[in-house]
Amino acid sequence: MTYINSEKFFSRGLLPEIEVTVPVREVFARISKETGNGFVLTQSGRPYRYVVGKSLVSSFLQRTQPQEDRTDVIGRFAESRAGSWISSPDILSFPIETAERTKTTLEQLENRPDMVFEIVDAGTPLGFYLNHENVLNAATGRIVWVCKQGHDNADPDHGTCAVCPFPIDHVEVR
Ligand SMILES: [Zn+2]
Repeated sequence: MTYINSEKFFSRGLLPEIEVTVPVREVFARISKETGNGFVLTQSGRPYRYVVGKSLVSSFLQRTQPQEDRTDVIGRFAESRAGSWISSPDILSFPIETAERTKTTLEQLENRPDMVFEIVDAGTPLGFYLNHENVLNAATGRIVWVCKQGHDNADPDHGTCAVCPFPIDHVEVR
């Protein structure tokens, strides 16, 4: 049995890859379009951390008091770089390590803490293996932005609801 056929393996292109220099605003727009909410943060094109998108969004929204207008918060922070947020302790992310397909067994991938392996074949990246449930969970739930009145929004836009004048209040993963 090969782990390439496992449901824990995502071929190259299936997980969003986002460079550390990309503004948070763009990260939100990207992950809102995806099936999952996790993404591979890259540094100079190399996979660096696998980030749980929901934790990034929640951390972002919690930077403000509930009575504060979140439109203002999104305006203030959304231009900051994705990479500058990842060190925040409330953001859940996992390390990424490279593994050569022909030299790595399923046991070697599984008998490690929660993490992601970039599977390569003779140096060519094939995709990513998410070794445990904790890591895999972020790859299946889609982010929905919910306003104060309970309307669903496909993306945060500028922080206000597309249906009513109220601000985005929180996100749900479905
Ligand atoms: Zn609304």
